Amino acid sequence: MILLLFSLSINLSGHFYTLREYKIGNEYYILCDSLTRKLELSSHWDNNKQVLSIQKEKAVSIIPDNPFIKIDDKIYQLVTPPVKINEKLLLPKSSLGLILRSILNMNAFFKNGVLEIGTRVNIYNFKWTIEPSLTRYTIECSPTLNHFFNKNNGEWVLTLFNPIYNKEILDQTGKGLIEEIEIEEGESFLKFRFKTKDDFQMDIIRKGKFLNIEVRKFEKRNIQTIVVDAGHGGKDPGAAHAGLKEKDLVLDISKKLASKLTEDGFNVIMTRVNDEFLPLKERTSIADKEKADFFVSIHCNAAYSKNSMHGAEVYFLSAAKNDWARTVEATENSAVRFESEDNAGIPELDYILNDLAQTQFLKESQEAAIYIQESLIHKCDVYDRGVKQANFYVLRLNYMPAVLVEVAFLTNPNDRKKLRNENFLRQAADAIAEGIKQYARAHL
Ligand SMILES: [Zn+2]
Repeated sequence: MILLLFSLSINLSGHFYTLREYKIGNEYYILCDSLTRKLELSSHWDNNKQVLSIQKEKAVSIIPDNPFIKIDDKIYQLVTPPVKINEKLLLPKSSLGLILRSILNMNAFFKNGVLEIGTRVNIYNFKWTIEPSLTRYTIECSPTLNHFFNKNNGEWVLTLFNPIYNKEILDQTGKGLIEEIEIEEGESFLKFRFKTKDDFQMDIIRKGKFLNIEVRKFEKRNIQTIVVDAGHGGKDPGAAHAGLKEKDLVLDISKKLASKLTEDGFNVIMTRVNDEFLPLKERTSIADKEKADFFVSIHCNAAYSKNSMHGAEVYFLSAAKNDWARTVEATENSAVRFESEDNAGIPELDYILNDLAQTQFLKESQEAAIYIQESLIHKCDVYDRGVKQANFYVLRLNYMPAVLVEVAFLTNPNDRKKLRNENFLRQAADAIAEGIKQYARAHL
């Protein structure tokens, strides 16, 4: 359903333009054709590739129904994709700022409902905060100042659009964890290239009139609080075979594991202690809320059509892409989140932070998985199926490394014999605890 609503005003360096605004669902759109015509931008529709290119200072490529747009050679994600209706391409209003800012290489932002383009924005000051593991470079500026922040050839680059500033306050000497700042002054932009000694993580945090560039040393985590998650429960039995139910076995192992870890001085939180159903989302939110240092989910395997499969395996999270690709993507996308003119970008922002945090913990999760797997193999005589990666929902945590242990196969006669043995369950719990302890010791 399309509703014709108000009109959108654009102030391009003192010249006012009006565009019709359409409402489709919850989003407002403007016709791409009228935009390019009024602002005299050159555009080209490639019918073979189904791509629209708009060009002036920079080229932007837009594909209908695709939230990813290409600006020069970089990919950015829009909160809402452009749509094509009756052969007309409509651009979401929420991304107009980003698109025009890129095409025109000018500042662009919404102010009192008017899209202001090319208006100069003040920078007042630059400040340093130096702590042992944190260096913060603060740019005090008008809240309407727009920026891009991305990693380019190993350097973190911050671009401020249409700024007004006093050259004397520009500081090019690095401090703390920032070794050097290279500044490039352009007609309509100010560019900072930050160099750090090691490949530290750099984040940009916008708080009103403060733009904080923060560099952190990645510190070893002291493992104190551990969440033990017994898989399944209640109406979800998990795997079930020959009178054994995964939900019962894993609760038993988890309780033994929790008491062992408590004896060893860890603070342990169990996601469930009874035969109750717990959605996956709740398990991860318990762990995130407690800001635990480590999460371990306990399971038993099954292969109903292949009962020869046996042994233990430990998983840590993976997406289809590798660690590096995720970092790159998150970095490329981060600029867009911080730049959307309204709150439409906030859920996306959460998503990306989530992504980044998990990337940091990927290596640690792998390390913990190896310790636990080795301990299981050596202490309880189970076949070594190795450490593996999979995209388990329950491992998508914000604040901690996480692993999922598949102790043995319910469907294999030999493994099943072990799982019926109270002694084996205790050994398995002890072995997992030992693996966690070794991992924790490596992080003291
Ligand atoms: Zn399971």
